[in-house]
Amino acid sequence: MQLAAIRECLLAGSLPAAGDVLALAAVEDTAALAALGREVRDRGHGDVVTYSPKVFIPLTYLCRDVCHYCTFARTPRHVSHAYLPIDEVLELCRRGARVGCREALFTLGEKPELRYRAARQALAAMGFASTLDYVREAARRVLDETGLLPHINAGCMDAGEIARLRQVSASMGIMLESAAARLCEKGMPHYGSPDKDPALRLQTLELAGRAAVPFTSGILVGIGETRRERLESLLALRRVHQRHGHLQEVIVQNFRAKPGTLMAAAPEPDLNELLWSIAVTRLVFGPAMHIQAPPNLSPGVLPQLVDAGIDDWGGVSPLTPDHVNPEAPWPHLDELARATAAAGKRLEQRLTIYPGYAGSPDTWVDPAVRPAVARHMADAALVWCRGTGSAHRDVAHLTHAAGARRATLEDPDVMLYEQVVLMAACN
Ligand code: SF4
Repeated sequence: MQLAAIRECLLAGSLPAAGDVLALAAVEDTAALAALGREVRDRGHGDVVTYSPKVFIPLTYLCRDVCHYCTFARTPRHVSHAYLPIDEVLELCRRGARVGCREALFTLGEKPELRYRAARQALAAMGFASTLDYVREAARRVLDETGLLPHINAGCMDAGEIARLRQVSASMGIMLESAAARLCEKGMPHYGSPDKDPALRLQTLELAGRAAVPFTSGILVGIGETRRERLESLLALRRVHQRHGHLQEVIVQNFRAKPGTLMAAAPEPDLNELLWSIAVTRLVFGPAMHIQAPPNLSPGVLPQLVDAGIDDWGGVSPLTPDHVNPEAPWPHLDELARATAAAGKRLEQRLTIYPGYAGSPDTWVDPAVRPAVARHMADAALVWCRGTGSAHRDVAHLTHAAGARRATLEDPDVMLYEQVVLMAACN
C-alpha cells in the first residue's frame, strides 16, 4: 500500500491493516512519512502539545535485571539505602506540589527482593513482604497526604498486583521496548533480564487492560531491533489497545549509549531513525492516540520531533532529574514552550491520566482516587481556560463557573460534575 492509500485510510477514520503497516519498513522517505504523521496528528490534537509536570521518585535502584544499556539499576553496594524512605518520598512530593507538579512518577527496579538479600532485609525491617507492597504504601500516602497523582512504573505484574496498585494510582505504565524475543538471546541487550521477555510484558499490558487501568507503554528505538521488528512491536501494542482501549499514550524513546554499560560503544539511532519511528507510530495508531517523545533525550531538535507527529512531551520535572537518564537534564519549561512554538504548536499542561479517561471515572478510576483526579481536572481546566480561552470564550461565564466550582470543592461528585461542565464550556 502506498502512503497515499494509508493517508486515505487514516483520514477516513480507519487504521492501516497489519500488512500495510509492515510494508512501511521499506519506506525510506522519512520526510513524506513525517508530513503524513503531522497531518494525522493535527486531526486529533490540533495545535496543542502537552506535558505533565511531575516529581520523579526513584523508589529503589535495585533491580533483578541487567539490561545492557541501563544506568538506573545498581547493586546494593552502590546505594546508600535499598529503598527511599516514605518520609523522603512525601517531602519530595510536597516540594513538587509547591512548584506546580501534579504527578508523582514512581520508578523502580524489577522485584529486587528476588535477587538481593539486602532488599529482602530492608523490606522485612519496614514490615513489607515485597517491593510492590512498599510501592503501594508509598503511593497511598502520596495520594492521601500530598494530593499528587501517582503514576506507577513497577514492571511486570500479575492481575492481583495490578488491582492493588490501581487503588492508589491514577495511571500506570510499562515500556514494551520491543516485541522481538531475540533481543533476550545471548549477546543481545535483554540477555539476563527475565522481565524483558516480551510475552511477559504484553501479558502485563493485557491484564492492565482487563483491570481498566489508564496505561502508558512504548518502544525503545535502536537497541538492535530491525525496522520491521519495531513495526511488529507497535502492532502488538495496538492489538492489546484494541481489545481494551486502555493505552493512553505510546512513547517513542531513542536509545542513548551510556558510559559504564555494556552498550556504551553501541551506535545510537540518528535523528532520521527517530523521526521515522515517530512518524510510523502515528500512522499505526492514528489521530486519537497520544504519541510522546522524551524531550531531554533529543536536545536541539525538538521542533523536528513535533513535525514528525508527536503531541506530548511526557513528564517534565521542574524539581527532580530524570533518574533513568541523569546525564540528560530536562529542558526548562520556557525552552520547551519555545521549541513547541517553533513547530507552530502551543504547550499545555496535562495530568498523568488523560481527559478521555478522567472524564469516565466510573470505568477508569478507582473510587479512592477519584476525588484527587477530579480536583486536578478542575484546576487544570481553569489553567487551560485562562491560558487559551480568552480570545474565543466568554471569560465572565467561565469565571462564574469557576467560582461556583470553588464553592463546592468538598463534594467529589459535585466537583466531577462541575469539572465536566467547565470543560464543556471551554471546548
Ligand atoms: S532497564 Fe529497568 S529492568 Fe532493565 S536493568 Fe534497568 S531498571 Fe532493571
